[in-house]
Amino acid sequence: MNPTSSPYDVAVIGGGPAGAAAATFLSRAGHRCVVFEQAKFPRYHIGESLIPHTHGILDRLGLLPKMRDSHFPVKHSVRFVSPEGTESTPFYFSETIEGDRARTWQVERGEFDVMMLENARENGVEVRDAAVKEVIFEGDRATGVRLNGATNGEEVKARVVIDASGRGCTIGRQLGLREELKDLRKATAWSYYRGGKRLPGIDAGETTMFMIPGGGWFWYIPLPNDIVSVGVVADPDYLLGKSDNLEEAYLREVALCKGLSARLANAERFGPVRGSRQLAYRNRQTCGDGWVMIGDARAFLDPIYSSGLYLALGSAELAAGCADAALKSGDVSAAQLGAFEPALWEGVGVIRRLIHAFYDPQFSFPKFAERFPEQRAALIDCLIGDVVGKDLTAFTAALEQMTPPPGPLGG
Ligand SMILES: Cc1cc2nc3c(=O)[nH]c(=O)nc-3n(C[C@H](O)[C@H](O)[C@H](O)COP(=O)(O)OP(=O)(O)OC[C@H]3O[C@@H](n4cnc5c(N)ncnc54)[C@H](O)[C@@H]3O)c2cc1C
Repeated sequence: MNPTSSPYDVAVIGGGPAGAAAATFLSRAGHRCVVFEQAKFPRYHIGESLIPHTHGILDRLGLLPKMRDSHFPVKHSVRFVSPEGTESTPFYFSETIEGDRARTWQVERGEFDVMMLENARENGVEVRDAAVKEVIFEGDRATGVRLNGATNGEEVKARVVIDASGRGCTIGRQLGLREELKDLRKATAWSYYRGGKRLPGIDAGETTMFMIPGGGWFWYIPLPNDIVSVGVVADPDYLLGKSDNLEEAYLREVALCKGLSARLANAERFGPVRGSRQLAYRNRQTCGDGWVMIGDARAFLDPIYSSGLYLALGSAELAAGCADAALKSGDVSAAQLGAFEPALWEGVGVIRRLIHAFYDPQFSFPKFAERFPEQRAALIDCLIGDVVGKDLTAFTAALEQMTPPPGPLGG
């Protein structure tokens, strides 16, 4: 045991995009921040497609010049391809957003996450190579973290602990708050190809979604160096049955999906097939006295709308704003730290409705846009991530005419 004498204002568990962003904002606001990251960066991570609404946050983090100078493919649109191979017209983000904000990037996460964490360091954040074993509580209140590994047992005190540990869900597991979302039971398997077909012009960086029969889909995300990320998401019983052979299931589905296999005709797969049988979860409680969860440490629903990184950065910025106010006022209660949560959950609720709509076999976006042309702009707003603090009542009412709303989250 070696408790540090001078406590930090903020201890962040995890140096992924959420943790790096929250620490950057809080350090800039004058707070002493430490980030604990257990992995040696650059480390591999899935989640490569940004949505345009991250633009403002990347701007406020000061990262836009680096993104513009990067070799990450620029993404202007999303396109859906039916199981029969019929392609929708691309949903260009420029239909609802003007100028530079109408484009975003497909990122190689090892590189992107290093950029984010370096930016945190440049903004005065201390980054330590260490795994957090657990959060220290005095009564119900978080007062710091206890480390694992080389400094096993070291205690680091902080006035606020931010859990940004991604799917690790440090606090969620410690307090037994994490639960699988049974209404969004999906499995996934993915891998990488070199030499997959790229579309011409501004469509070269688009995300293409290939639907497969039975409600599953593939992502096709062009990355730097002629690499494409290709992954399938589907019902676990359909995709894997009782087997856990991800590679077999993945290769079978690639071969069955005609539109996709045509794009991969001259491509070569490399690296392992990765994946998981269960994607969706949430924590029943996401903040408390002295602590708050952000990014995937809060919840993860489904990768269909590529909203993970946006929600990671968005929740980081919102939580940082509340933590800043809480630290300055000397009141780090759950009410202060979690003041952003109702608006965020409402936005996540809209994304969740769209996820359910997507998996409803009676529903399709092209059909929705045809029946409710006046809602096409709202649909694109949702696809770009512009859902927090927005009135989308008319949009969700139109959606309800084509697909029933889901029950309560976790219900
Ligand atoms: C199949 C799939 C496809 C996806 N596709 C997309 C997509 O196209 N677009 C998109 O935006 N999102 C996508 N996502 C989601 C995206 O990957 C996540 O939302 C995003 O990475 C969340 O960022 P984060 O910072 O919260 O967590 P992470 O990026 O997971 O970062 C958490 C960090 O915490 C560290 N850590 C964990 N535990 C500890 C500990 N105890 N001590 C110290 N460090 C710790 C980890 O090493 C890690 O570096 C996808 C997810 C999946 C599963």
